[in-house]
Amino acid sequence: MSQVVNPPPGETASARPVLGSSVGGERRGRAAVIGSGFGGLAAAIRLQAMGFETVCYEARDLPGGRAYVYRDQGFTFDAGPTVITAPHCLEDLFELAGESMDDSVDLIPVDPMYRLQWNDGTKFDYTQDEGRLVEQIRQMSPGDVEGYRRFADYTRRVFEKGYVELGATPFLSFKDMLRCAPDLMKVRADRSVYSMVSKFLKDEHLRQAFSFHPLLVGGNPTQTSSIYTLIHWIERQWGVFFPRGGTGALVQALVKLFERLGGELRLSTPVENIAVRSAGSGQTRHEVRDVHGASEQFDLVVSNADVHHTYSRLYGDHAAAKPVRRRLERMDWSMSLFVMYFGTRRRYPDLAHHTILFGDRYRGLLRDIFHGSSVPDDFSLYLHAPTVSDPGLAPPHGEAFYVLSPVPHLGRANVDWESKAASYGDAILESLEQHLPGLRDSIVTRRHFTPVDFRDQLNAHHGSAFSVAPKLTQSAYFRPHNKCGRIPGLYIVGGGTHPGAGVPGVINTAKATCGIIAKEWSVR
Ligand SMILES: Cc1cc2nc3c(=O)[nH]c(=O)nc-3n(C[C@H](O)[C@H](O)[C@H](O)COP(=O)(O)OP(=O)(O)OC[C@H]3O[C@@H](n4cnc5c(N)ncnc54)[C@H](O)[C@@H]3O)c2cc1C
Repeated sequence: MSQVVNPPPGETASARPVLGSSVGGERRGRAAVIGSGFGGLAAAIRLQAMGFETVCYEARDLPGGRAYVYRDQGFTFDAGPTVITAPHCLEDLFELAGESMDDSVDLIPVDPMYRLQWNDGTKFDYTQDEGRLVEQIRQMSPGDVEGYRRFADYTRRVFEKGYVELGATPFLSFKDMLRCAPDLMKVRADRSVYSMVSKFLKDEHLRQAFSFHPLLVGGNPTQTSSIYTLIHWIERQWGVFFPRGGTGALVQALVKLFERLGGELRLSTPVENIAVRSAGSGQTRHEVRDVHGASEQFDLVVSNADVHHTYSRLYGDHAAAKPVRRRLERMDWSMSLFVMYFGTRRRYPDLAHHTILFGDRYRGLLRDIFHGSSVPDDFSLYLHAPTVSDPGLAPPHGEAFYVLSPVPHLGRANVDWESKAASYGDAILESLEQHLPGLRDSIVTRRHFTPVDFRDQLNAHHGSAFSVAPKLTQSAYFRPHNKCGRIPGLYIVGGGTHPGAGVPGVINTAKATCGIIAKEWSVR
């Protein structure tokens, strides 16, 4: 386990923060992490492992952020992430404590990784196995087999640049950006995922099958940089997993790891505001005040809360936060989601764990979701059926589901979701009955989460489900930075900073951010 061994650059030992606890006679800094999403938990674990006395504040009654869990009548519903990729990111966190993840989490391989279905009856099992994948491509469009091979090779090269080299490297100066610009141009990062896929594949079903992935991290496939094709290589290489007990079990394992390291998680403790105070000798303290009126001082703050909320609300009183907030308001935010969780009293044979149900429109629907000012009447859906991998998530003979429909965020379509949600959910269930006969009669529990809930329950700007949109002009150096350049001691993790949203993405934000902190505090 690493330790804080020296003061940050420019400080003398006697000017070191003295607020930390004394462990073995050595004084260490105190860190507050605001939010217990995957990015916040990963940062909290890293900070605690580095020797910071770390407190993680969480507004809600359960940890996990978007990975919240609902339980009802014997059903367990993971609220958000369900497709777990790049498991080594998680493994790294356990290794920081000298532990093995296998002792705490059982990751079940999911095969097919996704089942893709279209209204014309076309089905495609998107598998990790190259032979099975290529055979299906051959049956669908024999002329595209060679193109797929070239596409896969392209995604491998993008992965080596975009993920291995740059994934957890913070971009704090324009120089950092210039350094990688030639590589980005080599892989044509200026082109969109859809346009790049179309260069290799002619069949429209296949173009959709290999270009929908940016939607998993809040991006429009027709606009998101082709760097995001690396998701294909991540999945081909390592596969897709689901934690036994649900994603919530993975969150719990991370919380326990943090607590075993000595960290403290405070649930149901929304942070109201953070004041930055001078502590003399050029030092600052962050006074974190929660809604219950308690306040505490920390040497540094890592905010995992929505990045706009961080600068507009938490640091709203700080003059330096205002220009950042204004800049964030000019940025493009990712779409929102309508998510409906439901449990059935019957099982459905032949389900896949993850099914994407493409609607009749692809590019047109994407345009409406990302640029429209109302909620389209048609939809493309993602259906999650976790009981396929882990029947324990529903009562015997039952099935747990969630279905998700991407919709415009509230800044584009300021919809009265309270009155719209029930009928929108009914329309989705009706369309699902083509695949799940008798569905509506077999539902025993149902609830939904709308863009308004993203805004009100998660403090998400515009109710965006994935924060700042992952476009090239909003990536790397152009994304909100992992370290705030204007407020000393403030750092950011989570979907709104580099590299971005998605479970591996936000876990890598923590690696990038804590790498900066480790350097500044000379942590070995
Ligand atoms: C429905 C859905 C499905 C998804 N599916 C996948 C998937 O299958 N695979 C994948 O890789 N990714 C998926 N994602 C994306 C992924 O879930 C997110 O990018 C990631 O979980 C976000 O993590 P985060 O660290 O940014 O924190 P968040 O999950 O956004 O958590 C932030 C936390 O901060 C807390 N907070 C906010 N304000 C305060 C405050 N003032 N005081 C204290 N706490 C505060 C919030 O309560 C919240 O707990 C999905 C997202 C959604 C919404």
